[in-house]
Amino acid sequence: MSDLNQQENTPHSPQRRCISCRGNGAKYDLLRFALVEGTLCFDLRKKLPGRGYYVCAKKSCIEAAFQKGFKRVTKSASSGLAENAESFIRDILIPGLRKRYSECLLAGYQSHALLLGADSVEDAARSDSLAAYVIATDASESTSNKYRSNAARKNLPCLGLYDRSFYGRLFGKSDKVVLGWLPGHLYEEFSSLEASIRRLESEITQK
Ligand SMILES: [Zn+2]
Repeated sequence: MSDLNQQENTPHSPQRRCISCRGNGAKYDLLRFALVEGTLCFDLRKKLPGRGYYVCAKKSCIEAAFQKGFKRVTKSASSGLAENAESFIRDILIPGLRKRYSECLLAGYQSHALLLGADSVEDAARSDSLAAYVIATDASESTSNKYRSNAARKNLPCLGLYDRSFYGRLFGKSDKVVLGWLPGHLYEEFSSLEASIRRLESEITQK
């Protein structure tokens, strides 16, 4: 008998199609919208019941969805979203993704998929069980360079959107300059969230 249990760290994450560009992408990388009792809502955690509609987490696809796609899919239903794509991205989407980013960190810590502090992160890197470094944005240049060169040696990404006191407060601990992810679905979601936040923030500031 074959083992059909899905691995947590599956290389084939579920695929969804963007209603704007029609491109396929991993479910993690796309935004989900859902029709809930006739109102179109942004589904931050991709868990709302009802028919879901997916859009790439980039400005061009979100704008196209506001201009055409959403009207086509909702027909007479109302929209619970912002007035236009720009204010949706700025006021709802980016704050939502940043909130979810913190939730992933907390869930990672609780499930032991996220390591706090230099010793445990470096131990995991040495035993080749680390998936990525998370470095505080206010780490000193020498500290940051040290972790970046360790990461480069192991071919691991370096992530991180917040400073050391943010990470400390999040876990009810003292400041944390470095965190480390072990592989798994929380890391995959976290890494996708960071890429989306960085892209959208640069897209709305450059205009
Ligand atoms: Zn798209």
